[in-house]
Amino acid sequence: MNNSKQTPKEEEFRDHLATVTEEGKRIWIYPKKPGGKFHNYRVIVAIALLAILFLVPLIKVNGHPFMLLDILGRKFILFGVSFGPQDFHLFVLAIIGMIISVFLFTVVYGRIFCGWICPQTIFMEMLFRKVEYLIEGDASKQRALNKRPWDGDKIFKKTLKHAIFAIMAVAIGNALLAWVIGIDSLVELISKPIPEVFGKFMAMVIFSGVVYFFYAYFREQVCTMICPYGRLQGVMLDPNSIVIHYDNVRGEPRGKIRKGVEQNNGDCIDCHLCVDVCPTGIDIRNGTQLECVNCTACVDACDEVMVKVKRPTGLIRYASKNEIETGVRKIFTPKAISYTVFLILLFSLITYLLATRSDFELSIVRTAGLMAQEQPGNKLSNLYDVKIINKTFNTIPATLELENMEGEIKLLSGDLTLQPQGIAEGKFFIILPEENIKQLNTPVEIAVKANNKIIDVIKTSFLGKVKGRKATK
Ligand code: SF4
Ligand code: SF4
Repeated sequence: MNNSKQTPKEEEFRDHLATVTEEGKRIWIYPKKPGGKFHNYRVIVAIALLAILFLVPLIKVNGHPFMLLDILGRKFILFGVSFGPQDFHLFVLAIIGMIISVFLFTVVYGRIFCGWICPQTIFMEMLFRKVEYLIEGDASKQRALNKRPWDGDKIFKKTLKHAIFAIMAVAIGNALLAWVIGIDSLVELISKPIPEVFGKFMAMVIFSGVVYFFYAYFREQVCTMICPYGRLQGVMLDPNSIVIHYDNVRGEPRGKIRKGVEQNNGDCIDCHLCVDVCPTGIDIRNGTQLECVNCTACVDACDEVMVKVKRPTGLIRYASKNEIETGVRKIFTPKAISYTVFLILLFSLITYLLATRSDFELSIVRTAGLMAQEQPGNKLSNLYDVKIINKTFNTIPATLELENMEGEIKLLSGDLTLQPQGIAEGKFFIILPEENIKQLNTPVEIAVKANNKIIDVIKTSFLGKVKGRKATK
């Protein structure tokens, strides 16, 4: 979305990235230290999110992780409840719900996710960049340090910075790994000799290495070149989306303040501060650009300038293009309403499925290809396969009982014990007196009990004898 009065010449900024030269070389961005109301709010949000990242893996419920996202092992624990591959449909629905939520927020509030929640922005701006400012100083000092020959001070500062970056990368890599393998496995990984835990150790090295590379070198390029969400902005945003916007109606024509000279300029004093603080190197005054991660640094910078020059703040602010042009804020557009309705329906479905989700999943089927077998005492038997998935963390003895008639159930394995988060499989006979079998297919009901409580009643059938044909012995 451009500012309406831009000429094709002024639109040329869209033909190239602010971080790449015409020869294709990278332009290293030195954003000025941000500060102000929005930055302070973002610091609070970042602390909360970092606390979640580092502390949640430490929380246990009855000895089990509160949250675990073991993708390779296909074991998930969310808020203390265990989920397995059999709950895949719930995951698919939850992921669709999350994606639509992000879309909905983008349609209405632009890239609020990027600026406030995205791990890339949080780690970069709230951890790594802060350390950089602390050691190397603000943008101008960093630029000067990089241009300087390698003297003792530069070697010290660079070594210190990258050592701290590496420590932070390992800490973040370990925290991410703790979400995947659990804190106990992580402690085991750290305490055991490397050859014994080589696979997990390599996972930790890769996690930490990627984190270090992203924040020490790759930085804003993740947002401007890799992130697919950034690429989708063009189709998700509309003129009513609320994004970080420069108020060109109020700001233009921009011009520096000249004391004693009568001017007819807008409120933008062309101080360039909004560009200097931008971590992606863009000029928000050109209009909404996909490089803008809505980090609010330019809002704070411009507000500070406006206060100094005694003009109203909010020249750069959260606003929609239509709001800037018409002065009317319209949030609930038909697009936003339809997304919201769909989202409510989807989350209602997920809530229903979660509420009605059982701790067990089971199936009982008659073993294929077998006839009824004759048993001593004028009895007939059928062979069945049973499979029970235990989603709980407990070891549970399971039993099978005939519900709707007299008869016997004989487990071939002796007993049926459900291991924590395990799958128990077995075979059993149903043995019925011949006089009870009046037809070829006799309906039978089998009560499956766990800890002596019925968890399900399975309806199946018992195959009798066909007249004139003998059962097998
Ligand atoms: S910070 Fe504000 S006043 Fe300064 S150039 Fe940017 S928009 Fe104009
Ligand atoms: S334009 Fe403003 S909000 Fe967007 S990335 Fe740059 S500083 Fe952040």
